[in-house]
This record gives sequence, C-alpha cells and structure tokens, in this order.
Amino acid sequence: MKPAKFDYHSPTSIDEALTILAQYQGDARLLAGGQSLVPMMNFRLASPAAIVDLNRVSGLAEIDEADGVVRIGAMARQRRIEFDPLIRQKLPLLAEAMRWIGHLPTRTRGTIGGSIAHADPAAEIPMVLQALAPASPARWIC
Ligand SMILES: Cc1cc2nc3c(=O)[nH]c(=O)nc-3n(C[C@H](O)[C@H](O)[C@H](O)COP(=O)(O)OP(=O)(O)OC[C@H]3O[C@@H](n4cnc5c(N)ncnc54)[C@H](O)[C@@H]3O)c2cc1C
Repeated sequence: MKPAKFDYHSPTSIDEALTILAQYQGDARLLAGGQSLVPMMNFRLASPAAIVDLNRVSGLAEIDEADGVVRIGAMARQRRIEFDPLIRQKLPLLAEAMRWIGHLPTRTRGTIGGSIAHADPAAEIPMVLQALAPASPARWIC
C-alpha cells in the first residue's frame, strides 16, 4: 500500500512549521511519530496535500516541572515517558499505563502529542490524562 502523493516539509522551528501549515490552508498534517498518520495515509483514509514533519523542531520533547505543574512536550516519545523519573514520581499512573500501549516499536516512535491529537476513543493516553485531571497531586500540561 502506498499513500497518495504529498509534499514533504521538515521545518526546524515552530515559526517555520506554522508558516508552512498556513500556506496549505488546512490541507497539511503534522507528522510526529507517524504510528497512526502513516498507516492512515497508506490506507488512503487520509490524503493530505502536505506533511509537516515536527521531528527536527527542537524544544518540543522536554519533560520538566515548574510551580507544581509537570510539563510534557508534545513530541516526547511514549517510551521515554514510560521510564522518565519525574513522570514516575509525579504521574505514576501515566508511566504505568504507558507499557500497555501498542508495543515496543510503536512506543519508541509514538509521541504523547500525537496520541492526544489523534484522539482515538480507544487510546490509553487521553483516558489516563482525563483520569489524572481532578485526582493528581501534580498538575500536568502537554
Ligand atoms: C500496531 C500499532 C498498535 C497501536 N496500539 C495502540 C494502543 O494499544 N493504544 C494506543 O493508545 N495507541 C496505539 N497505537 C497508536 C500509537 O500509540 C500512536 O503513536 C499514536 O496514536 C499517534 O502518535 P504519533 O506520535 O505516532 O502521531 P502521528 O501518527 O504522527 O500523528 C497522529 C495525528 O496527530 C496529529 N499530530 C501529531 N502531533 C501533533 C501535534 N504536536 N499537534 C497537533 N497535531 C499533531 C497528526 O497530524 C495526525 O493527525 C498503535 C499504533 C500501531 C501502529
């Protein structure tokens, strides 16, 4: 299976990515880990005119804490979140749930932001974050 023809862009900054997105007036898709988007394109369930690859944009994968808020960059890989010491300490449910998502190769490439944006109702990450919202001693933002 092959995707329909598309333009490929690999910006190195958020500003550049936003400029490219605007040029396509809603007909471009961001590429994170590609674990959902690429199969959808191969099955022709998605046929964007362009792909804007976020993998070379720096600063989107940080995990840190400030003022009691855990901040997880959209491009943080699921595999990293599974083992990150801050996540394990502050958001253990998220770390624990992560190992049940897909399998090693999909977690190695897949990102937290991609899973949230994809919004599959069967996906674990949005469900866990929803569950954490009222209960967690640490707040989070992604
Ligand atoms: C074999 C297999 C098994 C899987 N099993 C599971 C499972 O058990 N549980 C589960 O929850 N998921 C599962 N998945 C999905 C996997 O977790 C994906 O990683 C995830 O759904 C999408 O993450 P991604 O980073 O690969 O995003 P991509 O596939 O790159 O993108 C997905 C969508 O999100 C958009 N997007 C990505 N990043 C951003 C961003 N920063 N801002 C705005 N939009 C963005 C893209 O444009 C695209 O529309 C599986 C996938 C495969 C291939």
